Amino acid sequence: MTQIPLTTDERREKYRQERDKRIRPDGNDQYQEPFGRFSNLLLDPYTTVEERKPVSDEVTVAIIGGGFAGLVTGARLKQQGVNDIRIIDKAGDVGGVWYWNRYPGAMCDTAAMIYLPLLEETGTVPSAKYVRAPEIYAHAQKIATTFGLYENALLSTGITRVEWDEDDSRWMITTDRGDKIRAQFVAMGTGPLHRPKLPGIPGIDSFAGHAFHTSRWDYEYTGGDATGAAMTHLDNKRVGIIGTGATAVQCVSPLAASAHDLFVFQRTPSSIDVRNNHAIDPKWFAGLDSGWQKKWMMNFAILQTGGFADEDLVKDGWTDISQRIRDRLVDLLTAGSEFTPESFLQAYEASDDEKMDEIRVRVDKIVRNPKTAEALKPWYRQLCKRPCFHDEYLQAFNKPNVHLVDTNGKGVTRVDALGVWVEDEHFDLDCLIFASGFEVGTDYARRSGFETTGRNGLTLSEHWHEGMRTLHGIHSHGFPNLFILGITQGANLISNIPQNFVESGTTIAQIIASAIENNYKTVEASAAAQDAWVARLETNTGSVFGDSNCTPGYYNNEGQPIGVRERRNSIGYPEGPIAYFEYIDQWRESGEYAGLEFI
Ligand code: NDP
Repeated sequence: MTQIPLTTDERREKYRQERDKRIRPDGNDQYQEPFGRFSNLLLDPYTTVEERKPVSDEVTVAIIGGGFAGLVTGARLKQQGVNDIRIIDKAGDVGGVWYWNRYPGAMCDTAAMIYLPLLEETGTVPSAKYVRAPEIYAHAQKIATTFGLYENALLSTGITRVEWDEDDSRWMITTDRGDKIRAQFVAMGTGPLHRPKLPGIPGIDSFAGHAFHTSRWDYEYTGGDATGAAMTHLDNKRVGIIGTGATAVQCVSPLAASAHDLFVFQRTPSSIDVRNNHAIDPKWFAGLDSGWQKKWMMNFAILQTGGFADEDLVKDGWTDISQRIRDRLVDLLTAGSEFTPESFLQAYEASDDEKMDEIRVRVDKIVRNPKTAEALKPWYRQLCKRPCFHDEYLQAFNKPNVHLVDTNGKGVTRVDALGVWVEDEHFDLDCLIFASGFEVGTDYARRSGFETTGRNGLTLSEHWHEGMRTLHGIHSHGFPNLFILGITQGANLISNIPQNFVESGTTIAQIIASAIENNYKTVEASAAAQDAWVARLETNTGSVFGDSNCTPGYYNNEGQPIGVRERRNSIGYPEGPIAYFEYIDQWRESGEYAGLEFI
């Protein structure tokens, strides 16, 4: 069926209907933690845990989490001459999400030239514009090797508690391996998408077949491996996958190539734009000037957030949509309109309508069965959900063994021992794969798996009960010598997460080095500076991204009201990432560290 162009009002009405269909009163509570039958999903299937004696010692900086946040901060600390560092991670290796996510087809759809941090420092040439998960994992290992971050690391080690000891101004870290580690400084890079969640579908625990979450892929069961070898054990299996987000979009085509039958249970289709991957020519790469990566990262961030640059170095779906909005806004201003929230919204909606129409037309062009094509069309604004970019996902639905089971926005009805029910239709399955994502809206302590207790017994969960309270997204009053490695309340550049760490790692390393050099025992944000920062951030009332008019998802608190807590947990610098990077550079370079108290 060919797309019939809709008027603006018709499109809005359709978006509203599709959203209303999906709104549920239970919001985030619709998901369940992987306990009981699924408690193995919190374990590490990739590394055998070696017995070792508990460690009892002291380090200058403990870095919790060996993903890109922890690795980049560790590298920056070493560059500042702070060498007594220990990375602690419950995974058997560094890599963070790229350690855990080994599902077939996993790759990053932010361009490798800007996504892989410290390419110049490690002398790494990405193989392609967008690279696969094993290459990203290998790059994480290379950062650890290059900067000596494996030395002294404690892997396969889960933190149980982090507590401030006021008497000797040290953090005490205890772990599930019996370790007791004192640390002068702690950097927390526990990651925003870390703890797998399951859909709370009635009967989910009763499924008698094989089941796992995409972040704990069971290659022993499926055959194949993370590098793309065929999953030969599936050739006589009926496989179901629940979820059609960014993860499922990547693993559906390898599953389609291997499974006897693949049933894709869809609640909301993703928007699937073109990816257009290509190899990187090492000769071209060798010709790049020193300092190129910072230039590329900034160019991407400028264009992706609506700024101007002479050229678009990355040129992809992320920069495309923002340049369309920007150019429309320029046209409106040139035609005499003033810059107002309304003129921005007008430019945004017109660009989004154009983009989403292209995406829906693309579905028609690729998917041969008109009913399937219709069901695969996303009816919401592109940034309501994580935009996806793929050149094999939609094509997979043309294969006779691939069955799209569209649940009309309702989700799977129920699970029983033999398979899955959607309304009154039953699907017999041998294997059920949950591509149901990760906890986002829950408490920091629950997501990181441990509680952090600062001065006077105050826990981070209590301190952040009404949402995050930080200075720069990094420091929190009452938690001296603690550094949060995240994106929220800082640059909040979502399209290229590692760039946030590359920039904030520089600042954190300099603060720690300065405190050590000057023999300060503690560095802490003042309550006034923290509160002023949060108040400044809260002046940002813009809401196109994560809008409550969007179809529900983790970007908009599952369609539930966005209160003070939710806003604080997702806001960034009001003037955007580039302005934040410039602000923090000046703040750091001034050497005054305004808002921090050194004692
Ligand atoms: P998501 O949370 O994005 O997707 C979960 C999926 O499960 C959604 O399609 C959701 O439907 C579906 N779902 C939940 N409950 C039910 C139910 N009861 N019945 C049927 N379907 C259900 O998780 P992902 O793992 O896909 O992605 C998480 C994030 O990881 C991404 O947003 C992205 O930031 C990152 N990522 C990045 C990649 C990259 O290339 N850089 C690749 C992969 C992931 P609904 O939409 O209706 O809620």
